[in-house]
Amino acid sequence: MASILTVQGVVKQFGAFRALDGVDVVVERGKVTLIIGPNGSGKTTLVNVITGVYKPEAGKIYYAKKEEKPIDITGWPPHKIFEAGIVRTFQIPQIFQKLTVLENLLAVARGQRGEGVISALFKNWVREEEQLAKKAFQILKAVRLVDKWDMPAYLLSAGEMKLLELARALMAGADLIILDEPIAGVPIDQAHEVFKIVRNINQQHGITFMVIEHRIDIAFKYVDYVYAMASGRVIAKGLPDEVANDPKVKEVYIGG
Ligand code: ADP
Repeated sequence: MASILTVQGVVKQFGAFRALDGVDVVVERGKVTLIIGPNGSGKTTLVNVITGVYKPEAGKIYYAKKEEKPIDITGWPPHKIFEAGIVRTFQIPQIFQKLTVLENLLAVARGQRGEGVISALFKNWVREEEQLAKKAFQILKAVRLVDKWDMPAYLLSAGEMKLLELARALMAGADLIILDEPIAGVPIDQAHEVFKIVRNINQQHGITFMVIEHRIDIAFKYVDYVYAMASGRVIAKGLPDEVANDPKVKEVYIGG
């Protein structure tokens, strides 16, 4: 199995404090990889380094789009990483509350194209809009929001808002989606639904996922591989069962 993302020896400091202290993570293409770790262990910093928000002081990040060879994306600006196909979601969904579900998806496509005025001058504009709407509806089907396409986003449940964010990442043409706590604040039945849909999109559409999540009791059922972090380092990695039974992981989670 080829890797889509390789994080090698990454160090990120805030002043003298090392939030990431030589982190190695490999995300396999076509898999769902989970990153766990207690608060402050460096998970969000890792996402920020991968997505270009922070530049690491040391280490490398390689990304292999589709079947292409890995390229060094270390220090690339966020928009370039986004355009390359790595799209993240946030703990607090970054959706347009007042727009409808469908409009939230069309806004991604327009923002991405970034030349609405120019394309409006061309005859094929309507066709292009139709195609975008078609794509949006396919995505809404995949995340099971199609019945709510005309609903303003603020009326969605917590779980549905997370799914709308996932839909926006798909609309952006993501190859690798990084989900930052996709079930934080989501009731348990909806939380399972979110993970089932992630799994489905992963298997049906071949999208690779890297997921940061705290609620490991739920998340472990739906992922292929797990990395456990503590104090800016990877302390364990392996299949969900292996990591769940790792003494180092048990220690940081339940204090030994
Ligand atoms: P996690 O996502 O696992 O909870 P974070 O990556 O948010 O952990 O934080 C890791 C450590 O880095 C924490 O001790 C946090 O206080 C520190 N940290 C994160 N961002 C900053 C920042 N911008 N400036 C200073 N310290 C930071």
